[in-house]
Amino acid sequence: MCMVGDVPEFDIEKIEMDLKEYVCLDCENRFKGLGKSIICPACKSSNFETVSVEK
Ligand SMILES: [Zn+2]
Repeated sequence: MCMVGDVPEFDIEKIEMDLKEYVCLDCENRFKGLGKSIICPACKSSNFETVSVEK
């Protein structure tokens, strides 16, 4: 059985699953981040909470 070739949609779905939404506790900016070292893009703060996004 051949491997599925270029199917970028799968990669996009995977990335979206890992994306979490955060709200900055300093400036209340909402942003999405990926990975471990996340900072607020607006004020560079690392004070944030995860926002649970359920569809
Ligand atoms: Zn901020």
